[in-house]
Amino acid sequence: MFRALYKLLILGAVYLLGSCTDTDVQQSDYMVITNGQILTMNNTLEVITNGCVVVRGTKIEYVSSDCELGAYPNAKRIDAEGGIVMPGMINLHNHLSMVAFRGLAESGIVDVQDRLYNYFFPLEKQLLNRNLIRVSSRHAAIEMALGGVTTTTDMYYHEDEVAKSVKEVGLRGVLGETVIGFPVVDSQDVYGGLEYARGFIEAWKDDALITPAVAPHAPYSVSPEMLLKSKNLADEYGVPVILHMAEMANEKDTIATNYVNTTQDKSVVKYLDDIGFLDTNVLAAHVIYIDDEDMKILKKRGVGVSHNPKANTKDSSGVAPAWQARVSGLDMGLGTDGPMSSNQLDILNVMNYAARLARIESGEVSKFEPRELVQMATIDGAKALDMADEIGSLELGKLADIIIIETSSPNMQPNYDPYATLVFSAYPSNVVFTMVNGEIVARDGNVINIDMPAHQAQWDEITSDVAKFAQTLNAPN
Ligand SMILES: [Zn+2]
Repeated sequence: MFRALYKLLILGAVYLLGSCTDTDVQQSDYMVITNGQILTMNNTLEVITNGCVVVRGTKIEYVSSDCELGAYPNAKRIDAEGGIVMPGMINLHNHLSMVAFRGLAESGIVDVQDRLYNYFFPLEKQLLNRNLIRVSSRHAAIEMALGGVTTTTDMYYHEDEVAKSVKEVGLRGVLGETVIGFPVVDSQDVYGGLEYARGFIEAWKDDALITPAVAPHAPYSVSPEMLLKSKNLADEYGVPVILHMAEMANEKDTIATNYVNTTQDKSVVKYLDDIGFLDTNVLAAHVIYIDDEDMKILKKRGVGVSHNPKANTKDSSGVAPAWQARVSGLDMGLGTDGPMSSNQLDILNVMNYAARLARIESGEVSKFEPRELVQMATIDGAKALDMADEIGSLELGKLADIIIIETSSPNMQPNYDPYATLVFSAYPSNVVFTMVNGEIVARDGNVINIDMPAHQAQWDEITSDVAKFAQTLNAPN
């Protein structure tokens, strides 16, 4: 009933607009996606076969199997050709600019610390600058746009450069300026990121695509006082706080060593709760070393969680109790982590890993059904960001972040269960259409907003410098 009434209203509105001004101008605002299998990811996980999604401007205006296409005669038509139409995927944890270092120090390293201190930190110290950050983050954003990611988070330095690139490609970004207890590329002052973050937030707080944020690096690298100052800054502007949390087995001990008498043998989560840090605007990455009590605390405080199984397995960091965390009701989505840890930046692969890791760890194939993973990649990621009113599902009034994944390639057939096809069969290259905020940003393997030859020339210059410097390091590659 409501649907029929709504359609009448829309038709009426279209008629009225058309009658008073030029119909072509009015209807050029409309885009209609047809001939797809629509995974709405709404509350009832409604799947619509051969329906339509109507986009007007930046928003979704209509999603239904009952499409009166005559109501939009001059709308731009997108034929999904039988593919899967779904909300864009959300990458909850990333360091885009590190894509310039992807593939280095993959062999002969002793452990993650060895890789960090003997390879990665010298690379960062020598090579990081605004230009590398801008061009590399553009490169990472291009890769994500082509792979169906419509929203990415980030934690790094010179975050204003990351913001420019993410916006240039056309993606949505929740981008955190890093606050850390030693001098870094964008501040010679210890914890200088805090002041940098204030300027970054001021400059970007009203942007349609970019949500600026504060990113205290981790509880072991940021003092309790500065964690709280970061949180206070975020609260002042109503923006998120992003950090790594409970990523390492010895994290509790490192906190106790670095900040004497702070933990008293408490878990990392309990410590953060006791200092008053945990809150709904906190997004925590990894969250591996937690127990049932910690999950209750995170749930009670409304902390969002990024599960990053691909990075955690590659870095041998540990197995997060992601299944239990989901059952306990945490707002938990999926992230890649940086390109040195995850290499690929798409979320299709992360869904695949999340299922396999939970199943081998528990010995139960029921852990993480495909539809649950697609929820984590979309609407649950939006919940973790406190953005579920705007993105994460294809519903009336939400922002038009929409992707199409073709089902004509051999690896996508047969497609009996679209959730299983996405989680276990799809490659990022099967994504053929990416729309963010009502704008098409990638189609048929091409990004729309970027001059690729010009980008490639800048990128080649950067990777050639990185390769030269990498050879001088005492490392295996
Ligand atoms: Zn990270």
